[in-house]
Amino acid sequence: MTSLSSPQPIDVLVVGGGNAGFSAATAAKETGARRVVLIEKAPEEWAGGNSYFTAGAFRTVHNGVADLLPLVNNVDPEKAKLIDMEPYTTEDFQKDMHRICSGRSDPALSRILVEDSNAAIKWLAKNGIRFQLSFNRQAYEVNGRFKFWGGMALKTEDGGKGLIADHQATVQQLGIEVYYSTPAKSIVTSSSGTITGIVVAHKGEDTLIQTKSVVLAAGGFEANPRMRAQYLGPGWDLARVRGTPYNTGEVLEIAIRDVGAKQAGHWSGCHSTCWDANAPANSGDREISNEFTKSGYPLGLMLNSNGVRFVDEGIDLRNYTYAKFGRAIHEQPDGVAFQVWDQRTIGWLRDEEYRDERVQKIWGETLEDLAQKLTQQVGLNAPDRFVEAVKEYNDAVYAFQNEQPNKKWDPAIKDGLSTQSSTKKLALAKSNWALPLDQGPFMAVKVCCGVTFTFGGLAINPETTAVTSTSNKEMSNLFCVGEMLGGLFYGNYPGGSGLTSGTVFGRRAGSAAAKVATLKTREDASLPRQTRSARL
Ligand SMILES: Cc1cc2nc3c(=O)[nH]c(=O)nc-3n(C[C@H](O)[C@H](O)[C@H](O)COP(=O)(O)OP(=O)(O)OC[C@H]3O[C@@H](n4cnc5c(N)ncnc54)[C@H](O)[C@@H]3O)c2cc1C
Repeated sequence: MTSLSSPQPIDVLVVGGGNAGFSAATAAKETGARRVVLIEKAPEEWAGGNSYFTAGAFRTVHNGVADLLPLVNNVDPEKAKLIDMEPYTTEDFQKDMHRICSGRSDPALSRILVEDSNAAIKWLAKNGIRFQLSFNRQAYEVNGRFKFWGGMALKTEDGGKGLIADHQATVQQLGIEVYYSTPAKSIVTSSSGTITGIVVAHKGEDTLIQTKSVVLAAGGFEANPRMRAQYLGPGWDLARVRGTPYNTGEVLEIAIRDVGAKQAGHWSGCHSTCWDANAPANSGDREISNEFTKSGYPLGLMLNSNGVRFVDEGIDLRNYTYAKFGRAIHEQPDGVAFQVWDQRTIGWLRDEEYRDERVQKIWGETLEDLAQKLTQQVGLNAPDRFVEAVKEYNDAVYAFQNEQPNKKWDPAIKDGLSTQSSTKKLALAKSNWALPLDQGPFMAVKVCCGVTFTFGGLAINPETTAVTSTSNKEMSNLFCVGEMLGGLFYGNYPGGSGLTSGTVFGRRAGSAAAKVATLKTREDASLPRQTRSARL
């Protein structure tokens, strides 16, 4: 293998080895780049960035179950007959992006995300990524049928762990070189402003990698407490990191510093979720991974340590609310909350998040008993108010049930079972799935805010992902994808869009970078020998 510091420029250099970077590297090779190198800051035992920690959920436009069955390996013909899955159309995904991101998502970026999503999944499958239908996360079994909900149906086999293992196998097969423990430190340009190389730290030395094009895919700044406090706001340095500790934002800063890259998007915004209060502070756990997520709140209630509800737990289907409820918890006293259920819904909680060995559960025979135990064991400050709040909620549910006795509870749709009737309304509604909490024993778990990834990033040309400069010029051979890309998500996001974005824009970046490299190779070949290196 040629060394990293070879005098001959490589074709495409990808910075960052998560889903976006691996997708870009694969696409570059597929488009004809000869030498593709991927550098990764983390050591190999931390391979895969945040993408490793995911549930592997991909949101994609599809035409219903028949469109997805050829891609998945966990549905036999008998099971297929029991599936209820509405198509998820381009309009559906587009509307979700518009609604969930409050109309702020860059229209060109979100259009491409949506329109390329189906082809991107099929391209991944062709490149060795194993997909499954997400029965455990996105379907409820109702009357013997699997009812898919929330517009999302696909996940990778073995979640993010499987996704990264498959990507690694593919890039190895394609002859793409991957160097771990090799962080990017600066971007080098020619006098005309063209990118000519990246300086990396490699085996203890600063090394210049000369390259014809670069794809930046180095994640956001979610694992950098200083930048979180600086951009997300006071107190965000204390939020817990859900994924890799290596996404510390320096490549964003390097691009802004070295080539005047323009910033875009929601720099004070991030994806953050309900997260186990006993999870580690500064990074995810490679084994437990996404199982620290605690997303069973639509089936129950969430109260803060003063015994006060603070969100409408049933305002929408879980995968449209979970990415913003972390922030809501972060804003509560001590940044914590308690999720509570009774016997009606405990059995519906997902095993991977709520099984006995995964989470500390607090039980009480009565609401008063539960409140006492929460106070003694995990920091509830106002047990009386806690009991009062749940009872007031129950009264509102009873009033609704009296008024609309025929309405049926159904967790797979927005069922309209709420706390708001003509005789009683709560100041803060629970708009769907509102069942009373009156059948003990009751169960609660303590949650905090886990930060997933940051929304602020670099401005790009949506078609090619070429980075834009502060003077609004497009850089011809610098591309940017994944969490580093700004302008796509604002305030919230439709679950499963992060991985899809990484592949949709990663493919475009890899392909554009390969084309630039091929062009440079041709131009270079036509120059007299002595002037070739001077051009780069
Ligand atoms: C617990 C959890 C669950 C999630 N579940 C889902 C899900 O199911 N579906 C979904 O769509 N999204 C999910 N997400 C979000 C998803 O992880 C991201 O949107 C997506 O993986 C980002 O991909 P990426 O390639 O941009 O970043 P990453 O996968 O984080 O890759 C970035 C890489 O860049 C490397 N890097 C950083 N700095 C440098 C440097 N200086 N030089 C070289 N390399 C560098 C990092 O080490 C990292 O490996 C989840 C996230 C978490 C944390």
